Amino acid sequence: MDQVKTGAFIAELRKEKGLTQKEVAEKLGVADKTVSKWETGRGLPEVSLMMPLCEVLGITVNELLSGEKISADKYVDKAEEHLYELQTLKANADRRLLSIEIVLGVLSIIILLSLTMIASYLQMEDWLRIVIIVFAFAVSITGVGFALKIEQVAGYYVCAKCGHKYVPTFKQVFWAAHCGRTRHMKCPNCKERSWQKKVVE
Ligand SMILES: [Zn+2]
Repeated sequence: MDQVKTGAFIAELRKEKGLTQKEVAEKLGVADKTVSKWETGRGLPEVSLMMPLCEVLGITVNELLSGEKISADKYVDKAEEHLYELQTLKANADRRLLSIEIVLGVLSIIILLSLTMIASYLQMEDWLRIVIIVFAFAVSITGVGFALKIEQVAGYYVCAKCGHKYVPTFKQVFWAAHCGRTRHMKCPNCKERSWQKKVVE
């Protein structure tokens, strides 16, 4: 993918349609600066914005990523190439998310332990102890909730029985027995329960 070429292509099509950067930004719910960033090749649109942007410009995602209109005979080759590149982008984003999960999990535990210690050993009024403990639990439960949400959506789980890769529901991830990120869940493909590993690609 060539960001500069894609950027110039976005600018060209936008002008053909008689739209300003501001109008495109409004249609997509992003800042004007973001559109300008794409057009000058300083960044690609996020994957979730690619389809809406293509709709505004009247092109396909395949063409957006090529930075030009694609003839029918080259279409499949280009699509495969881009699919691979998008998968790599997603895998990198997922890896970043999963490292955030670790930070969140560790922080939640530290906050819970340190506040519980403070509430247990320091001299203070009883009501204050209760407030601190309730606060500590609320913060750590929220932290762990976000961490679990990340684990659910980043990457995939692989069924140990049939090798099927999938994204489970939050409920499944929440209730599953786990050892690190490996969770015991039912595979939607073969319906068997197994210990499923987390993968990003
Ligand atoms: Zn399976």
